Amino acid sequence: MSKRDYYEILGVNKSASSDEIKKAYRKVAMQFHPDRNPGDKGAEEKFKEAAEAYEVLSDTDKKAQYDRYGHAGVTGNGRGFGGGGMNMEDIFSQFGDVFGDDLFGSFFGGGRGRTSRSKGVRGGNLRIKIKLTYEEIAKGVTKNIKVKKHVVCNTCHGSGAKDKGSVQNCGTCGGSGQVRRVTNTFIGQMQTVTTCPTCNGEGTTITAKCNSCKGEGRVYGEEAMSVEIPAGVQEGMQLNLSGKGNAGERGGTYGDLIILIEEEPHKDLQRDGMNVAYDLHISFPDAVFGTQLEVPTIDGRAKIKIPPGTQSGKIFRLKGKGFPAVNSYQKGDQLIHVNVWTPQNISAEEKATLEKLSHSNNFKPHPDKTDKSFLDKMRELFS
Ligand SMILES: [Zn+2]
Ligand SMILES: [Zn+2]
Repeated sequence: MSKRDYYEILGVNKSASSDEIKKAYRKVAMQFHPDRNPGDKGAEEKFKEAAEAYEVLSDTDKKAQYDRYGHAGVTGNGRGFGGGGMNMEDIFSQFGDVFGDDLFGSFFGGGRGRTSRSKGVRGGNLRIKIKLTYEEIAKGVTKNIKVKKHVVCNTCHGSGAKDKGSVQNCGTCGGSGQVRRVTNTFIGQMQTVTTCPTCNGEGTTITAKCNSCKGEGRVYGEEAMSVEIPAGVQEGMQLNLSGKGNAGERGGTYGDLIILIEEEPHKDLQRDGMNVAYDLHISFPDAVFGTQLEVPTIDGRAKIKIPPGTQSGKIFRLKGKGFPAVNSYQKGDQLIHVNVWTPQNISAEEKATLEKLSHSNNFKPHPDKTDKSFLDKMRELFS
């Protein structure tokens, strides 16, 4: 069957805007919607055709390909073009964007399609761990990973059937995926609709199974993907990538990929929420005279000034040098904890000098009562 021009199908010209294309598709989709044309195969074909045209023309890349190369430019990309067109599940799941969920529901009396004919069985969720360094967490990172999981079978494209001829409309429900049961009650006849027990709501049954996947429509394989990790994530956080998990059975929807974040310990820094702690050791003369030095941060090295007379235990704060929040522009600080190094091995000469100094009144402790106590500092640190 030769394909009709996508623009012709939707009744728009090549210069139509994306809004005009959407509007045109809405019109055609409503005209040929299966609910309005029950049992009309011709209408169903037109409905599918329109969905396929919209799928291509609403996507900037695919549209450009189509404009340049025609149908050849958009066939054979594994999404079902060229062969049997899009399946109903794809079409109905696309409707959310086109009609908006509420609008769709009110047009067609409660969103048919999505619930009545469920295709296959949804794939399971998949959990993997990703280990990140502080530097990666500080800036956010794109990780290229390979995930071992169920992928759609290449031979049958997920149908699980040996060939087209081995997919048959379900004899029990006639392909609708639902069976109606009429029961007599005291207020009259009641009609209930339930999922067809023969085909489990799929509407079709398979007479011969695909050899590659034994009829499952999926095989165990591997998928390479790149995952964007936002800045500021924390150990134990989970990112949910919807639809990136295991492929479903017989064309069922994909499960989710759940990524568990792990932090790689840093050799110099310790994270505390959004803040970062660093233990700085300085010599006694540096503490007395003051000095300038560099400290590591999660974003390269930073210069800091140690003022003359700095006490051991002093905490300096580098504002904004901590981790960013995941969902806001807030940033934590780096807290630098000063330790004055007490020498452990000294020469006879040094010993004599120190003994002389130890009699000086200046070397006796004079705790400044206005200075923050240890307890205050701890409260500040962990607030
Ligand atoms: Zn297969
Ligand atoms: Zn059935």
